[in-house]
Amino acid sequence: MAMQRNRSLRPGPLAGRHLDDGHGLWRYADRIAVRCHRCDAPGWVVRQSRTASFRCLSCSVALGDGNACGCGCCGTGTWVGPVRYSGQRPCGYCGHQWVRAQARRAAASPPLKTLSADCAQCGRSSEVSVSVSPVRDAESNDPYFGMPLLLVARTRAGLLWGYNQAHLQALHDYADAPLRERAGVSNGSMFSRLPQWMKLARNRVLLQKATARLIARANAVR
Ligand SMILES: [Zn+2]
Ligand SMILES: [Zn+2]
Repeated sequence: MAMQRNRSLRPGPLAGRHLDDGHGLWRYADRIAVRCHRCDAPGWVVRQSRTASFRCLSCSVALGDGNACGCGCCGTGTWVGPVRYSGQRPCGYCGHQWVRAQARRAAASPPLKTLSADCAQCGRSSEVSVSVSPVRDAESNDPYFGMPLLLVARTRAGLLWGYNQAHLQALHDYADAPLRERAGVSNGSMFSRLPQWMKLARNRVLLQKATARLIARANAVR
């Protein structure tokens, strides 16, 4: 597979060629297939203008449009996905600064207020107050609420995930093309950020098949 850099202004795609026009993953984030964080039923996160919302057709839980996640105490607003807890304090025994505590959890429910951590100097354990923050760089979670993505496939080459049919179709077209070009594109483009296994010629057929299966699954979601 050849990689050519094309500096002309956004030429149209040619047969057998894939042209990266520089668009980011964000282009596909207007509609995201997820599994409900409460009942696991498939559904859609929908973005309209600047706000995203989710309403589960199975259990009726709603997120966005002013609805918080429902637990009312996790301090992460509408975020229901993976979180990181962290905090520090001077050791209560020897005064050593600092005793640091950190933990990651799949969700902020039940919420943690403290974590115990050992002092590096005296070795004794203290309770450390922690604050919570969303982990937004997690793979295969939606970027608005952190719900698990529905369109995920674990292939023998790596993890494939997509937001919706258009996103998966773009990956499918990419897999299809033996020649890939970039039109003066920066590193922010979705295609430039694909994991290495998707870029390898030997995985083209695998990527084509896996994206086709996920598109079929997406078409079945109400
Ligand atoms: Zn539900
Ligand atoms: Zn100590």
